[in-house]
Amino acid sequence: MNIRTIVPDGRKYTRGRPNGTPNLFVIHHQAGYQENSIRALTTGQGAPSANYIISGADVVASVPEGDTPWTNNNWASNTKSITFELANAPGMQPPSQATLESAAQIMASAARRWEYSLPLRRGVNVYGHNEVADKPTACPGGTNLSWLIARANQILESSPPGSSVGAAAPPDQEALAQQEVARVFAEIRRSGMAYIHVKGTKTHILVGVDARYPIKGLKSESKRGITTWSGQGEIALCRDIWGEPRLISARGYEILADILTRDEPGNGGVRA
Ligand SMILES: [Zn+2]
Repeated sequence: MNIRTIVPDGRKYTRGRPNGTPNLFVIHHQAGYQENSIRALTTGQGAPSANYIISGADVVASVPEGDTPWTNNNWASNTKSITFELANAPGMQPPSQATLESAAQIMASAARRWEYSLPLRRGVNVYGHNEVADKPTACPGGTNLSWLIARANQILESSPPGSSVGAAAPPDQEALAQQEVARVFAEIRRSGMAYIHVKGTKTHILVGVDARYPIKGLKSESKRGITTWSGQGEIALCRDIWGEPRLISARGYEILADILTRDEPGNGGVRA
């Protein structure tokens, strides 16, 4: 099992868990394949998104477990669940045994970390999408939930309480911050400019390549071909010119600021 982190666009999920820590798992099938699903679940704005997107040994940790995914067509269950999108086997067959095994490993690990009531039980703390959705859905298709739940319980029983379970771990905050910064630089490469709103603050910043426009009310600094504007409050005018804001964490901003103020050339490869 290989876990990689792909955090969705900040407009695709809710920060935090407004009804308290998660105590449910809700299982979905992707009605398709991994790469298409990753795109649909991580880019653009609005639902859907998910905590985990799994195909065989490929596990994508997407919405952080401590945040609320938009997966279930039901707000109450979204707030309390860790959600799984499982790739279909070829020909829209139910998710493969390898996919279920990865999901069981993640469920066992998350159940321990978030102190779920054990053993896991269908209809108590594990549901298929069609059991919680506001609208009728065929999801999770032929997914073998009985096997999945039994396997997760077996993994939990074989590892004593207090030990961490399996190779799974919550997405690392530092790795998430690094990834946010990589996204900002990708945006600069694509468009020459990124507009960033720093999570948990009122700080907005713009970062661009060789674009030294004065912007009213914002402090600007240029260094080695990179211009940074920073300021507080509303800069709606900039949104019209340079696109949608990109939300990053305070730690992401620290890393970004460190790269941008570093004296050696390179700046994260922006000019490459
Ligand atoms: Zn579903």
